[in-house]
Amino acid sequence: MNDILKLTAIEISKKYQTKELSCSEVTKAFLDRISATNTELNSFVSISEKTALETAKIVDEKIAKSQRLALLEGVPIAIKDNMCTSGVATTCSSKMLANFVPSYDATVIEKIRNNNMPILGKTNMDEFAMGSSTETSFFGSTKNPWNTNTVPGGSSGGSAVAISALQAPLALGSDTGGSIRQPASFCGIVGMKPTYGVVSRYGLIAFASSLDQIGPFSKNIDDSAALLSVISGYDHKDSTSQPNIDTDFTKISSQKEIKIGLPKEFFANLDPKVKELYQDTISILSKEGIIFEETELPSLEQGISTYYIVAPAEASSNLARFDGVRYGYRNQEAKSLVDMMELSRSEGFGAEVKRRILIGTYVLSSGYYDAYYKKAQQVRTIMKNDFQKAFSKYDLLLSPTTPTPPFSFGEKSNPLEMYMNDIMTIPANLAGIPALSMPFGKSNNLPMGIHLMGNLLEDQKLFSIAKKIEQILGFNIQNPYWEK
Ligand code: GLN
Repeated sequence: MNDILKLTAIEISKKYQTKELSCSEVTKAFLDRISATNTELNSFVSISEKTALETAKIVDEKIAKSQRLALLEGVPIAIKDNMCTSGVATTCSSKMLANFVPSYDATVIEKIRNNNMPILGKTNMDEFAMGSSTETSFFGSTKNPWNTNTVPGGSSGGSAVAISALQAPLALGSDTGGSIRQPASFCGIVGMKPTYGVVSRYGLIAFASSLDQIGPFSKNIDDSAALLSVISGYDHKDSTSQPNIDTDFTKISSQKEIKIGLPKEFFANLDPKVKELYQDTISILSKEGIIFEETELPSLEQGISTYYIVAPAEASSNLARFDGVRYGYRNQEAKSLVDMMELSRSEGFGAEVKRRILIGTYVLSSGYYDAYYKKAQQVRTIMKNDFQKAFSKYDLLLSPTTPTPPFSFGEKSNPLEMYMNDIMTIPANLAGIPALSMPFGKSNNLPMGIHLMGNLLEDQKLFSIAKKIEQILGFNIQNPYWEK
């Protein structure tokens, strides 16, 4: 095993400055690792060896001339396959987009390219980011490096595995209801969903636009904060982008007293092993001076039901564009336009995507709109208010990231059971607040994540407290796959 692979992104950056490592050498190490492990793990759907090495060369020329490198410049990265990459297929792991090659870059990709970060490849995901296990991918499921009989979580399973199996030092995912944080939890790494609007969604293939947010995967909190600093910022191409934000998330601050609320609503339905780990963690952190208090946010109980109205409603509208006419899969045998659209959509989309389109179309239909969609938006407002009240008393809210440890392939064949896995992560999307998952313990040698939620636009504070917790817990992210 090449020792380069174990380095954090910040460590790699430092070794460029001191000329201990070249960018080509680092990029090559990760590309080699991908080619040695991808057949088994299936975390990448495409690999961009040539362009990655070309970018590395540019960085090496700067290093040779002793030019200063920007934050994370030259650090390789993996990208979830729902972010548009000009000239490189962007499939959303769907048959519908299996041959779609965008003509433009998403804003985050533009930022990554401008920062000369070699893009190693595009990662596997649940089809159109709908799922919690990466099992709905058209390209087959991704395996969890901690135990290959186990799912890596989803929908950004490929990106989480890329970090956990040492195929990339950094990765991007997208999170609509937990798709960064839940796979981070299942793979024993750090995954962060920023405040809604901190990262541009331009060029992210939309699932549910009012909930979608791009965010970083990494080995630790420092790398996560650094990557968010690179990808964030106002973008006039995204009307929901936040203006005037400080995009330096690396300024870790320390505060004397940290007060964390523990939402009671999340304690029910916890797997006993998760509960035990969670309680142990709270007592360890209390001993270090962090103050914990149980609190109530009654609307959290409505999270899943609200999400499964809002998200499918927006998805049904966003996915209407895939009609076989403009781009994407087209059935070639149909004799009429209507037949062509119908067949293209029924053959191009998988079962979970169709389920969401059906639910979404139903809840938006006239006669039902007020009863479902409008009601769901009202609950969302109540939830935002509950969070505002909580954050007037607490710096953060804490819970496990998922109610259960990582599960096996096929174990959650009932969609409702699958949906329940996001019970703790969904409220942050509905309220737009920042949240992250970081590893805190193991159950049967499988990792478990702890979930921290912060107030709107307090992403930096979230990182600062998370870093303190990381130092106290000192979780070792090494998994058995590192020996391969
Ligand atoms: N698992 C959730 C869903 O299936 C969340 C997905 C996501 O965050 N993209 O909708």
